[in-house]
Order: sequence, then structure tokens, then C-alpha cells
Amino acid sequence: MKTKEPSGTATQVINGIGVSTGIAIGPAYVVEPALGSVPEYSIARSGIGREIERFRAAAKAARAQIAKLRKRAQELPRNAGDDLLLLLEAHAGMVSSARLTSGVETRIHERGINAEAAVQDWVHALAAAFSAMEDPYLAARAEDIRDVGLRLLLQLTDRQYTAFTSLPRGCVVVAEELSPADTALMDPAMIAGLVTTLGGTDSHTAIMARSLALPAALGVQGIIPVVRASDPIIVDGDAGTVIIHPDAQTLAEYRRRIEARRRLNRQLKRLRDLPAVTRDQVQVTLEANLELPRDAVAARQAGAEGVGLLRTEFLFMNRPDLPSEDEQYRALADIIDALDGRPVTIRTLDVGGEKLATSLGDRIAAGPNPALGLRAIRLALQEPALMETQLAAIMRASAHGPVRILLPMISSIRQIRQVRQILAKVVRRLRRRKVKMAHPLSPLGVMIEVPAAAINADSLAREVDFFAIGTNDLTMYCLAIDRGDDQVADLYDPLHPAVLRLIQHTVDAAHRSGIPVSVCGEVAGNARIVPLLIGMGLRQLSMTPNSLPRVKQRIRQLDAAIAARRAQGILDQSEETQIATLLDEFIDAL
Ligand code: PEP
Ligand code: MG
Repeated sequence: MKTKEPSGTATQVINGIGVSTGIAIGPAYVVEPALGSVPEYSIARSGIGREIERFRAAAKAARAQIAKLRKRAQELPRNAGDDLLLLLEAHAGMVSSARLTSGVETRIHERGINAEAAVQDWVHALAAAFSAMEDPYLAARAEDIRDVGLRLLLQLTDRQYTAFTSLPRGCVVVAEELSPADTALMDPAMIAGLVTTLGGTDSHTAIMARSLALPAALGVQGIIPVVRASDPIIVDGDAGTVIIHPDAQTLAEYRRRIEARRRLNRQLKRLRDLPAVTRDQVQVTLEANLELPRDAVAARQAGAEGVGLLRTEFLFMNRPDLPSEDEQYRALADIIDALDGRPVTIRTLDVGGEKLATSLGDRIAAGPNPALGLRAIRLALQEPALMETQLAAIMRASAHGPVRILLPMISSIRQIRQVRQILAKVVRRLRRRKVKMAHPLSPLGVMIEVPAAAINADSLAREVDFFAIGTNDLTMYCLAIDRGDDQVADLYDPLHPAVLRLIQHTVDAAHRSGIPVSVCGEVAGNARIVPLLIGMGLRQLSMTPNSLPRVKQRIRQLDAAIAARRAQGILDQSEETQIATLLDEFIDAL
């Protein structure tokens, strides 16, 4: 971090990881944990008892958390620990107090509202009553009751709530951490960019930022203590650099860069209707990854030939209940209609790990290691009703245009056979209902994103109609590096020789079996890595729509036969640094 002093305000430059290309300039909007904007929704009479139980479980967890903190405070040197102990004892008393619990439970019961809203409402009332007291000691207790309320809310929601839908226009959001669901609520027309302390290159938040075309730097350690609300700030989403209080010269330089990018984008737009074909006439299919329904428009504008990955998680985020079959069907049908005859690859629900969905509630309580836990297909097979509803919606939507069904996180043949059984049951039911579906039925494929699936690709290829390689998770699970953890982000490397060999093995297995294979992980949108993928025999790539024109430009510069020779040389290497050097030489020679 370096500092200098223009006109009384220190310029600070802090480096993180650039995860979403572009430059943002705007006032900082610093997200703080707050009691504000907790969602309120109605609870059916039959669900009141369960909601009260949920509140009691949260209160119990909060008490356990305070007890743990008290134990730690007792271990502190006496003078440091005493004040803290007193405070924690007061908090423990408040969490257990009959006044707090009965106030919350009465609200849930009488008003039929969710536990979060009941806590917020009652804590508000209690804090206001304390603040109004004349005794300054008692008045100061308002702060304690708010802290206790926040602790309860965090237990209930497992996250912090901020109204991401109504931020000041043109701001740069600065937060400790943002979930993909938070990011999905942001309107890119209102927000200039994103900065967080936590998060890695291919975390789902990073992918969401790229899909919204919001310049973003994650893993920017140490920013929260130094940035204040409304500080002018620049985010360089390529370099991962954040500049707080830039001087006039720096601002002018970054504005020039924004203008240069606009010019480049205008040039790239001209490629829209040209084919993605190499110089030696090898045709490559470029498709779009969709995070949110509005990406369908961006996909068309970017000239995508279809959707290689529709992440259906958006249907389950930021809502208290599960979407019905009808609701899912309508959302999917709208996207298929918008793609106007181009194929749409719909992936079944992939939540768990860092992708949490509020609507699934307790079904995915965080296990000891969420990335290795009840995620994606594992959850779906444990909750077949969830999968049946989703498959029924997909099959109905398949009457609107060509659809492919894609299963996430497959690691064994048994899982595919179980899904086929569920699918057969769903189809039988729909036929009985005389519902229109695609005929013949939509192809069923799997993500190759767990090393076991890649190694076993020859056997899997006999069970399914296509493969989609998910390099984000494949890299994470192959290298044992959490894709969302900034502390090990420098070790996360899809160009690691072990990852490349898994990709090559998968591509060869697909070719041997004669089934289509694509890449829909983030490397497919990386113009530096695409020549290597073409050299490895890939002919179908799916990426965030914004990356598509640049990737097309790169493919049109390539010779596929030369790329194959270069790729062979790269795959023969056993060290990451040699791979990076050879890849750079390849790109420089284009
Ligand atoms: C992947 O893992 O590469 C992938 C495309 O899926 P997601 O990023 O949604 O996990
Ligand atoms: Mg994945």
C-alpha cells in the first residue's frame, strides 16, 4: 500500500485480484453489517410452530456463540478481558431474557411474519425504549440490544442484509464479502463497480460480476478500515488495483483508459455477425453462459449461437420459498423464446458450497466442508421432489425450442442412472397430463468438474449424450484450492499440468465415444487460454456474453493445426511456469 498527499487527502493504492474486466470510477458505498432491510414475508398458519422453532434454534446458537466468546475473554489478560466479559454477560442475559423471546414469538404468532422480521421489529422497539430513558447508563443499553438483535439475525439468515437494490447511482460497492445472491440484486446501470476483501478469481461472486459487466476487484485486503463512505475511488478490474482519493492526473489517465476500452468494444461489436472460424477453416461454436434471465438479451447481442450453460440457481436466490413448477417453466420458456431457436443448455440446480439459496433454508445446513458436502446433484438426489419439479419444468419448456439438460457435480454412473429414473417418471406423469414436450426427448449431459468424472470419462460417455467441462470446479477439486478463498488464490491455476491433463483426457474420451464436448468454465472466455483449448481439440466454448467478441476475434487469428502442435508441446510440460511461458510465446506469435 503506498500513500501520497494531494490537496489534503491521502491517495491510497491497494492491490487485490482483478476478476471482472473494466474500470470503475465513483464514490465508495461501504457495506456495513446492519439491521436494516431484513426481508419480511408471511408465514402460513400451519408454519408458525416451525418458525418459532427456527427462532429458538437461532437464540440457542447465539447463546452458544456468546458462551464461546466469554470463554475466550476469560483467557485474556485481566484488564483487557474484564470489560469484554461484562459486556458479554449483559448480552447473554438479553438473549435469554423472557422479554426478548416472548416479544419475538408473540410477533411471529400474532402477525404471522418470519422470524427475521419479528426480531428486527421487536429489537427496534426495545432499543427505542432504552434510548428514551433518562439514566445515561440505561440509555446506552440500546446499543447492546441492537448488537444482540444483529447476532440473532446473523444466526437466522447466515448472512448480512443490505438493500442492494437501492444504492446511490454510480457508486463503487465496497464490502467485506458479497454472496452471489447479493451480487445478483445489483443493477449494473446504477453501480459502477465492486470491491471486496474476501473472494477469489473464479468464485461465483466473481462470475456474477463478470456476467453483470461490473468491473470488480476481490481479495482487496485491508480496504475496509481505510475507506470511508463517499470517498472517490477507482477500481481497475483487470489489474485488481483500487485507488482511493486518486489525484487529478491519475483520474485523467483512467478516464483515457475508459475511453480506449469503449473504442475497442465498438470495434469488437462489428464481429457480431461473422463466424467463429479459424484461418484454416475450422468452425468453433461460441455460446453464452447465463446467470440471470436478463443475460439472454446480452447473449443475443454478443452473437452467441446458443446457451452452453444456464445456471438455474437464479430461480432459487433471494426468496423465502421454493419456485413452483409453473414459475420455473415460465422463466425457462421465456429464455428459450428469447434465444429464438438456438439451443439452450439448462443445468439442474447447483446450490451448496458457496452458492447458497435462501429458498432451500435448512435443507443445506453448512456441513464441515461445504464444497465437499451436500451440493448440486447430491442435494437433488437426496431431495428427489426438488429434482422432479425442476425436470418437469424443463421438459415442459422443451416444447419452446431446443433444450439440453445438464447435470452438475456428477462423480459416478450411479448418479446418472438415478436421474434417468426420475426423468422417466416425470415424463410419464407429463404424458398422462398430455403436456407438450420436445420429441425426441432432450439430450442429457453431465458437467465434468470433479476429477473422478474426468478420469472416468470413457465410462461416463457411454451413459450420456454430451459433456460440458466445468474448469472452475475441476481446478478447485483437482488442486484442493477453494475457488472462493483469496488466501490461496495465487495457487488456483487452471493451467496446472494436472488440470490440463484431466481436460485433455475428457476431450479424447468424448471424441472416442462420438459425443459433443464443450468447456463452460471461465477459461472458455479467456482469450489467452482459448488458443490452447482449440489446440486440445475443443470446438464448442461457452462464456459470459461480454467475453464472446474478444474470444471470436482470437479464434479468427488462429490456425487450428498450429494450435494442435503448440498444445501438444504445452501438455508435455510438467511445470506451471513452463506452461505459462509457452502459452505466452504462442499468443505473441499470433
Ligand atoms: C464450473 O465449475 O466450471 C462451472 C461452469 O460451474 P459453476 O462455476 O457454476 O460451478
Ligand atoms: Mg461448477
